Amino acid sequence: MSRKDTILRAAKRTAEEVRAVAQKNREMKTRQNKNLGIKPHKHCLVCWKPIDMDNEEGVCDSESCIKINDKRQKSRKRWGILLYVFAGIFFLSIIFQYMNSGT
Ligand SMILES: [Zn+2]
Repeated sequence: MSRKDTILRAAKRTAEEVRAVAQKNREMKTRQNKNLGIKPHKHCLVCWKPIDMDNEEGVCDSESCIKINDKRQKSRKRWGILLYVFAGIFFLSIIFQYMNSGT
């Protein structure tokens, strides 16, 4: 057996090994993707269950989640209004003070 043959055989074996590893990597990658779930989705704002991307409310179908989310939004709105009211009172009191000190 010549030296050339040995090298050639070794090279061939190496190429086959590389191919096998590449194939294995590809399999692992697809399996990982399957495990992670490629489908885009978001999570319920209350229970963090995965829900559809086009769900505009941001909560799952569960009635309690819808109720809790509704309550949260209402209280958030209320706090927003209260903030404006307090800011208004604050500004008014400053304006009144300014007007009183001016005269
Ligand atoms: Zn939920």
